[in-house]
Amino acid sequence: MTVCRVVVVGAGVSGLVAARELTKHPELEVICLEGSDRVGGQLHTLEIDGAAVDVGAEAIHLGAPHVAALVRELGLAERVVGAARGASVMGTRKGLRPLPAGVGPTGPTKIWPVLKSGILTPRGLLRAGLEPLMARRRVPEDVTVGSFTQGRFGKEVTDTFVDPLLGNLHGGDVHRLSLQATAPQLVADASNGTSMLLKNLHLPAPLARVAARVRRTPSPTPPRTATQGASALPMFATWPGGLQELTAALAAEVDVRTDARVTGLEREGQGWRVLVEGQEPLLADHVLLTAPGAASAELLREHCPQAAALYDHVPMASVATVVLGYEPAAATANPTLRDHNGILLPSNLVRTFKAATNLSRKWPGLGARHHLMRASVGRFGSSLAEELTDEQMTRRVADEISDLTGLAARPELAQVHRWPASMPQLQPGHKDRVEAARDALATVGGITIAGCSVDGLGIGSTVKSGQQAAREIITTCKDKD
Ligand SMILES: Cc1cc2nc3c(=O)[nH]c(=O)nc-3n(C[C@H](O)[C@H](O)[C@H](O)COP(=O)(O)OP(=O)(O)OC[C@H]3O[C@@H](n4cnc5c(N)ncnc54)[C@H](O)[C@@H]3O)c2cc1C
Repeated sequence: MTVCRVVVVGAGVSGLVAARELTKHPELEVICLEGSDRVGGQLHTLEIDGAAVDVGAEAIHLGAPHVAALVRELGLAERVVGAARGASVMGTRKGLRPLPAGVGPTGPTKIWPVLKSGILTPRGLLRAGLEPLMARRRVPEDVTVGSFTQGRFGKEVTDTFVDPLLGNLHGGDVHRLSLQATAPQLVADASNGTSMLLKNLHLPAPLARVAARVRRTPSPTPPRTATQGASALPMFATWPGGLQELTAALAAEVDVRTDARVTGLEREGQGWRVLVEGQEPLLADHVLLTAPGAASAELLREHCPQAAALYDHVPMASVATVVLGYEPAAATANPTLRDHNGILLPSNLVRTFKAATNLSRKWPGLGARHHLMRASVGRFGSSLAEELTDEQMTRRVADEISDLTGLAARPELAQVHRWPASMPQLQPGHKDRVEAARDALATVGGITIAGCSVDGLGIGSTVKSGQQAAREIITTCKDKD
């Protein structure tokens, strides 16, 4: 049996998942190199105020079957902590309002709760209600999420719901983000003209069948839950030790070396010489690049300019998270902090923070001495996350929370964590550019790309990206054998 040596660059979720999958194969020798002094990348748990607090990604979506399966495989299912029930509130011109039921990152799926919420103007509501008619205009090509939802529901829905939900998730502008790459679940509806509102009308079964025949769309199926096929898992979760429990469990099964920044790749026969800052180079038959943005672009530029160009087309947003600790009694006396898991703000309200998680309410058993809130600052096109000092950011966020919620208490602790150039902005045409980059890399040989800049951000997308990359490498190494 010939041993195929694989070097994985980056120990974020995508790199660790790929390295772990590869390590299961005895014919592969796998080393994961991480440039920083810790594993996890954008998953980073710190001890703050006696609690495990995530200052990067904060919740894992276990509704995705491949993520739930991984969590079970790692033996972490028994330990998950689900998010407490309780809708977030949204910033509107009339103040904070609970997010209506059925409103997701890409707009409303039910019109009645939106109607009752009073958030939209009568004109905005009327326009949103025209969605079944607007659905007849099919969208065959990739467009921005914003132009798609605006075409379907109108500008008000896009500004009020899609911008603070999907835009905030990506730290970006919905009028620049690709529908195919950031809302793939809508692509079929866009190209076959299915109404998102009618699709989610839960009619009695016989009526649904008639309606589906009239609309020529499949009958609505009940939403999948994380409970199917196994014991129940909450949709959104973490662990008592934070999301670091996930990355630690992955890393425990992998030969991972920290403080090992890869600075270059050189051809060595059919394989690669991997240059590592301040260390001896490593020889590899196959290299997997998972670092986002410029780091991977620079490693690829000389050998595969077309793949480097993929990363050049993905601008990165810089964001920061601000953890604030309030005196518990004062915080829980405030109705917003007592009853809601978070605050979402549309960009047209122009505040320093764009979203805040009410950590102490959302995660039962967090165990902090104070009542902790966590706000996110910065988005693509804004330099706030880089320019404000810690003190300025903390003061502004605390002022805004007080102003929006009426909380009189001032935070007694504050901690800022910055994520420069961390959130990839996948623009229309991204999927085609990924395909072209992968085709070009196939002709070079021995390099695979994965991670959030390629396959989209979020733990679910990066798990899938790492798994797919591992499968591709296993096939390539077997073919060489
Ligand atoms: C503030 C914030 C909040 C978020 N919240 C959520 C959330 O709640 N839920 C969710 O699902 N997702 C969330 N995300 C997104 C999610 O965390 C990321 O999409 C995902 O973790 C990215 O994983 P990755 O492996 O692609 O990249 P990364 O995590 O960036 O990992 C890449 C690794 O490569 C290393 N590296 C870079 N260059 C080199 C080099 N030259 N040599 C060696 N190593 C190198 C880096 O140090 C890093 O460790 C959030 C992201 C941020 C920033």
